[in-house]
Amino acid sequence: MSNSVAATEIGTVPVALGDRGYDIVIGEGLLADPGRWLGDLLLRPRLALVSDETVFGLYGDGVMDALAKAGIRADRHIIPAGEGAKSFSELERLCSALLDFDIERRDLVLALGGGVVGDLTGFACAILRRGVDVVQIPTTLLSQVDSSVGGKTGINVPQGKNLIGAFHQPRRVLIDLTSLDSLTMRERRAGYAEVMKYGLIDQPDFFSWLEDHGADVLLGDRPSQAFAVAQSCRSKARIVAADEREQGQRALLNLGHTFGHALEAHAGYDGRLLHGEAVAIGCVMAFELSARLALCPPDDADRLRRHLQKTGLPIRCEDIAGDLFKGLGADRMIALMQQDKKVENGMIGFILARGIGRAFISRDVPMPVLRDYLKSILP
Ligand code: NAD
Ligand code: MG
Repeated sequence: MSNSVAATEIGTVPVALGDRGYDIVIGEGLLADPGRWLGDLLLRPRLALVSDETVFGLYGDGVMDALAKAGIRADRHIIPAGEGAKSFSELERLCSALLDFDIERRDLVLALGGGVVGDLTGFACAILRRGVDVVQIPTTLLSQVDSSVGGKTGINVPQGKNLIGAFHQPRRVLIDLTSLDSLTMRERRAGYAEVMKYGLIDQPDFFSWLEDHGADVLLGDRPSQAFAVAQSCRSKARIVAADEREQGQRALLNLGHTFGHALEAHAGYDGRLLHGEAVAIGCVMAFELSARLALCPPDDADRLRRHLQKTGLPIRCEDIAGDLFKGLGADRMIALMQQDKKVENGMIGFILARGIGRAFISRDVPMPVLRDYLKSILP
């Protein structure tokens, strides 16, 4: 495979996309010696680093020092922390900065941070000089198991999230598990929802493993984290390699997301409802709707709810603090779901399940069943 590196740390997961293929290198302490994990990708000893204020405050000096010691000149651009940075104005600032740094097409840009840094930087790299190389260095659990892999990049606009973007695969993904230590438990749980999603889609054994070891992943047990992150990356890599541009099976990764995105749109994107929390509630909805349609045993929906509750993730809108979901009735929820990118000819695409580990794509959920179900669970 092209772009390979001999990783000796915890493990490497290849993403098999031919000449756009790359490795996800998973390890501990990778940030202390980034030159070692990037050297073969550099045509000249310089790069640009993009991060947000929070992540740069935690890890920036260490990474900059390590790059300097390795003889690599790094210019840096720091964005504000939070979803608001996925905007046209930050995109413009970032592109100008990269041009001012004289970043050329074959130079590397490092995206050090969570999904916000990764999505904005990836998009800037997709359009700068018609495509500059990016290396994703995800620092949240969510970005390590989901957003850094697969090449989806983009920004938000008032009309919706991620509506402006491009596919732009990274040249490598560097996952340093030690960066999980500084995350709040709430952020860890939100990322965990995406980990669990892979089990729900097509890996019932992984879901069972999570039922036994999920708490260890959240509490920081490194071997458990390594296994969960690697297993998630393998899942995502396999699905992306089979369907890079989401013409078919990649849509399975949206399990819980059609509902979840509607909840996020209603709540606004101000941090009161995290994406992973919306996905957790959305997965419960997908399983309960499947059970209502007699596609899935009710016991499996029950098992999912029990696991989420044990993990401390929400299963219902009421589990989120405040009155965020006041006024969200079934009709508004359906209208919000119709805004989804996955709508075709006005038909909402649903990811349903025949059981845990048996998700499938459906475009023919009867509206009355959907409406009745939503009425029964919305506050
Ligand atoms: P984020 O990047 O906003 O990070 C969450 C918060 O944690 C931020 O305040 C950040 O500064 C902070 N943070 C990051 N790393 C930290 C660390 N190690 N220690 C302490 N604090 C840290 O959010 P996220 O949850 O990583 O990602 C969400 C974004 O990812 C959304 O915009 C979503 O649309 C996007 N996303 C994209 C894809 C994709 O395929 N491209 C997939 C899923 C999600
Ligand atoms: Mg997601």
